[in-house]
Amino acid sequence: MTSRLFQQARRYIAGGVNSPVRAFRAVGGEPVFIRRGAGSRVWDSEGREYIDYLGSWGPLILGHCHPRIIAALEETCEAGTSFGMPTEIETELARRVAEAFRAVETLRFVNSGTEATMSALRLARAFTGRELIVKMAGCYHGHADSLLVKAGSGVATFGIAGSPGVPEALAALTLTIPFNDAGAFEKICENKRGEIACVILEAVAGNMGVIPPARGWLEAIRELSTRHGILFICDEVMTGFRVAFGGAQERYGFTADLVTMGKILGGGLPVGAYGGRSDIMDQLAPDGPVYQAGTLSGNPLAMRAGIETLELLCSWTSSPTASPAAPPCASPAAASPARPSAAASYDRLEALASGLEEGLLAAAAEAGEPVKINRVGSMMTLFFTRHPVTDYDSALACDTDRFAAFFRGMLSRGVFLPPSQFEALFVSLAHTEEDIDRTVEAARAILGELRDH
Ligand SMILES: *Cc1c(COP(=O)(O)O)cnc(C)c1O
Repeated sequence: MTSRLFQQARRYIAGGVNSPVRAFRAVGGEPVFIRRGAGSRVWDSEGREYIDYLGSWGPLILGHCHPRIIAALEETCEAGTSFGMPTEIETELARRVAEAFRAVETLRFVNSGTEATMSALRLARAFTGRELIVKMAGCYHGHADSLLVKAGSGVATFGIAGSPGVPEALAALTLTIPFNDAGAFEKICENKRGEIACVILEAVAGNMGVIPPARGWLEAIRELSTRHGILFICDEVMTGFRVAFGGAQERYGFTADLVTMGKILGGGLPVGAYGGRSDIMDQLAPDGPVYQAGTLSGNPLAMRAGIETLELLCSWTSSPTASPAAPPCASPAAASPARPSAAASYDRLEALASGLEEGLLAAAAEAGEPVKINRVGSMMTLFFTRHPVTDYDSALACDTDRFAAFFRGMLSRGVFLPPSQFEALFVSLAHTEEDIDRTVEAARAILGELRDH
């Protein structure tokens, strides 16, 4: 069945998919076509049920089809799907983001993470009057030309160094250094003194598999970029509202100059955002000369899904449908304890995800399979390797064939993992202890089979 669907898709869609990693090339076989989702589950075109850890690649921190999000979307829809003029809910969502992220004074909504990082780069170059940018090998920041250099995610999955079609002259302006290497950044700051506009990074890498920041690394990036007049862009497209309500910056206690967001912020609809210091953001048209625009930017449906998602994160209880109207999240400046209700969501995610981590480690140990798990909150990766994974090179050293076999086995037992070693799996608030137990049980069986073959 799926094979027929994929054949039909290939007839009209390039490669049969609208984003490369969906094609399952890295794990073999053909993509699963999804019909619907609810809570922690998805069902494919043949009615097979899966426990879903893809979460649409990150956005679905509340699981699929949360009844409050669906109801809010239905209500919004009835008033119209797009106006191309300001609506009050754009300001409402912007306010909530600014309250969650100390770094964000003002922001712009766009339609994807790619647009957010692309626009932030342009702004950083305009603001500093410099052209070079620094990125970390293995970090993925969307598919804008300047950022497709030693990128993670699908670029890593398919072993693409750069991408044909990116002009060499442009790629030459992107300098790449290893993740977690403060010394490399210090050296490049010295060597290219006065030429670097910005440094962009994922504070917790998620696109070469999950890699947490080494102690002191983010502080060093912050300190050196301030000293050299370099703008620090923290790409929180994946980590924003994921590793803490206020993203990696809240979790690790640093403040970037510009922040890019997406994924959870759109609650499952297409949204990106970039924001930061208002003296930088003021350079954008119409107040300033830097151009950036969008026909559907700030789309009412996407804004509403974002608002509901943030609201629900701030009012999580074990039975979301029964929860009363949620109070707005307290701003970080409010009396402590700040955002007690958002803390409940992240405590719950931590408990579920640490249970999964422990279970998977125990299953691997039982099977004698050497693995490493990197986890930050509810994002994690099971790496098939004996060695710690701390940067792109150590990620690339993993046994991707073994991962592929594990992935296929898990899929056949009704567990949907991201179809590449170089991606993060996501635990959502819709997952239950029973889901975790069933997942660990499946892993135990599959790892046992891998050993015996
Ligand atoms: C997903 C992602 C992007 C790109 O976002 P899209 O919406 O897919 O364009 C950028 N940066 C990071 C860190 C991401 O995880």
